Amino acid sequence: MINASLPELRRALDARQISAVELASLFLDRIDALNPALNAFITVDREGALDAARAADARIASGSAGPLTGIPLAHKDVFCTEGVLTTCGSKMLANFVSPYDAHVVSLLKAAGAVSLGKANMDEFAMGSSNESSYYGAVKNPWNLERIPGGSSGGSAAAVAARLAPVATGTDTGGSVRQPAAYCGITGIKPTYGLVSRYGMIAYASSLDQGGAFGASAEDCALLLSAMTGFDERDSTSLERPTEDYAAALAAPASARPLEGLRIGLPREFFAEGMADDVRAAIEAALDQYRALGATTVEVSLPNAKLAIPAYYVIAPAECSSNLSRFDGVRYGHRAAEYGDLADMYAKSRAEGFGAEVKRRILIGTYVLSHGYYDAYYLQAQRLRRLIAQDFQAALQQCDLIAGPTTPTTAWALGEKADDPVQMYLSDIYTIAVNLAGLPGLSHPAGFGADGLPVGLQLIGDYFAETRLLNAAHRFQQATDWHARRPGCVA
Ligand code: GLN
Repeated sequence: MINASLPELRRALDARQISAVELASLFLDRIDALNPALNAFITVDREGALDAARAADARIASGSAGPLTGIPLAHKDVFCTEGVLTTCGSKMLANFVSPYDAHVVSLLKAAGAVSLGKANMDEFAMGSSNESSYYGAVKNPWNLERIPGGSSGGSAAAVAARLAPVATGTDTGGSVRQPAAYCGITGIKPTYGLVSRYGMIAYASSLDQGGAFGASAEDCALLLSAMTGFDERDSTSLERPTEDYAAALAAPASARPLEGLRIGLPREFFAEGMADDVRAAIEAALDQYRALGATTVEVSLPNAKLAIPAYYVIAPAECSSNLSRFDGVRYGHRAAEYGDLADMYAKSRAEGFGAEVKRRILIGTYVLSHGYYDAYYLQAQRLRRLIAQDFQAALQQCDLIAGPTTPTTAWALGEKADDPVQMYLSDIYTIAVNLAGLPGLSHPAGFGADGLPVGLQLIGDYFAETRLLNAAHRFQQATDWHARRPGCVA
């Protein structure tokens, strides 16, 4: 059961081979056994999970189960959960019990999914290694000395180590795709606006987007289908009919299921910068795509190299504004001793935020300040437009864009902890996608020289989620990279 796909779990639950309570207990016991080493969870909600599982069993018995009824999952601790601690990986929110559910959380509750708890993450989703969490680093299940990626590192590690069959995440600059790649699982970040940001603690609102982690594209499709949908409480939520992403994968397998699919390979992604072992795995995966009927064509994203500088102006600018709400007054950490009101704000924020968060707030206030706004912020917004236009031009020549998710496999814990710029560069292939608001997916595509997973990224036009998931699904029907598990999965 630990390794079962979501459709297999569905069949087992519906056939009463296992109850939702038994299934939840199985995963909760695994969390008890393995989480001390992995640190993938900040909060484990055993009681809440068992209550939800009992309700799911009743629903299954009454014949009204949906695709996710009784399916256990983990929520990234960026999503507000009513009555359950929501820390966002920060000391600032170490005592914050949310009075309401995020839209994503209520949708999944309504679907009958069983939340096991809250997954560890970089503080306020700022980071690429999960080392900025106040609750300690998450370990990569494939090698406990390596980072799992970030910022949704806890969600990715939990799914890879089978502490949960699927998990939610958020992706502002790569935080679903990058940890999915490093942990050897599949992750999708949909088109900006498809998943409501209501109750998803804000980092950079014009970039933040909820996404799904699973072992396979099929599992991601099932989870994502239940996460999307219009929400009037998010002003950027898109009003369009929800899609059943999983149904679109049901077409029968054939020898060349991707016949006619044109895959664009951005010259800039395949230039220098990609490690040799990653390149070898990606090239082999692309051969597999060709064997399935796809054709490849070289495309160009000439401004892609400007994505990181643009992002590290825009994201800090937005975060400096979003995080101003954490002032020690209404909720969150408040310093024990202070003088006047200004001193209380200053001390509470100085104590509550970690170094990376402070660095970004400072950069953000700087680029937004009078005299620098035009030079930095407006300039970054112009680059953002150019980057989006590059993608549109490239997508005229192809149906999907493919390349590596990351330049290397997961690095050693601590290796880049003191070098923020090196850390930022690890998102070189993912960040441009957020700036353009496009959907992106990462799926396992082999292993590097050190035995760690390599991820292949697929990027599509707006609302091309089905196309991305279908391409990955066909690849996974023909290969078994996604079925490989780290040693801790017996
Ligand atoms: N690593 C990037 C950052 O630190 C992206 C994080 C994310 O997507 N939340 O901002």
